[in-house]
Amino acid sequence: MIDHAVSVLAGRTDILVFTGAGISTESGIPDFRGPKGIWKRVDPADYTYDRYVSDPDFRVNTWGRRFSSPLLDAAPNDAHYAVTRLWETGRVVGCVTQNIDGLHAAAGLDLSSIVELHGNAHHIHCIACGDEPQFDEVAQRWASGTADPQCLRCGGILKTKVVYFGEELPPQAISRAWDMAERADAVIVIGSTLSVYPAAFIPLAVIESGNPMVIINQGPTDHDFRAAAIVNGAAGSVVPELVGRLTPGLTQH
Ligand code: NAD
Repeated sequence: MIDHAVSVLAGRTDILVFTGAGISTESGIPDFRGPKGIWKRVDPADYTYDRYVSDPDFRVNTWGRRFSSPLLDAAPNDAHYAVTRLWETGRVVGCVTQNIDGLHAAAGLDLSSIVELHGNAHHIHCIACGDEPQFDEVAQRWASGTADPQCLRCGGILKTKVVYFGEELPPQAISRAWDMAERADAVIVIGSTLSVYPAAFIPLAVIESGNPMVIINQGPTDHDFRAAAIVNGAAGSVVPELVGRLTPGLTQH
C-alpha cells in the first residue's frame, strides 16, 4: 500500500498535509473517535460554547481536565517529525491541523506553515476583553485554589483558545487553510476520520481541483472512496517510511 502512496505523490511539489487526532495518539493523547477515543467516555453534546459560558460548574470541570491533561506533557512522535522533514524539502505548501496540542510546532515545523483550525489548548484568552494571559500564570492560580480563574483585567470569563461546538473557527485560520488548499497539488491526510466540518472541506477542496488525496489512518474515514491511495497503519511508523521513500538521502529523525 505504501508503494502506491509513494507513486501517487512522486513529482508532487506542493503537498498539503492535513492532520487529525490520530497523529498524536502515539504521543499519549487520546483521539475522539478511534477505538480508545474520548467520545467513548464523554458526550460531545456537552462540549458547547454556550454551556461553557453559562455553567460555572462546567468551567470548573473543564479547567480541572485541562490542567491535568496528557496534552500538557506530550512530546511530538515520529510522525510529527517526519512531516517536518518533508516540509524541509520544500515540497509542502502547509500543514492544516485539527489538533489543539501544538505538536507540529514542537516538532520544529515553522509557525508560518501551520494552520490550527480548532485553536490551541496552550493559549488562553478572556472572552470579554480579549486579554491573553500566560498559560502558566493561569495554571498557577488554578493550582493555588482558584477553580474557575477569571480575567485579571476585566473579571471576564477565561477560556482556552480551543474551538468548542457552536463556536466559529478562527477566520484567519480558515482563510490561510483555503489558500494552502488552492495552491496544493496533492494532500496527505494523517490520523483523521474526515468527519468534522468545516475542517474536512479543506482536503476535499484539493481533490475537487483534480489532485490526489493519500490517506494514512488506522481504520476507515468518511472519504476513503475518494482517496487515490490509502495506507491503513500507525502514523508513527507509516509517515516516516513514506517520507523516507519520497526524500531518499535525507537523515531519519
Ligand atoms: P477522530 O478522533 O475523528 O479520528 C482519529 C482517527 O485516527 C481515527 O480513525 C483513529 O482510528 C485514527 N488513529 C488513531 N491513532 C492512530 C495512529 N497512531 N495512526 C493512524 N491513525 C490513528 O479525529 P479527527 O478526525 O481529528 O477529528 C476530531 C476532532 O478531534 C478534531 O476536531 C480535533 O480538534 C479533536 N482532537 C484533537 C486532539 C489533539 O489535539 N491531539 C485530541 C482529540 C481530539
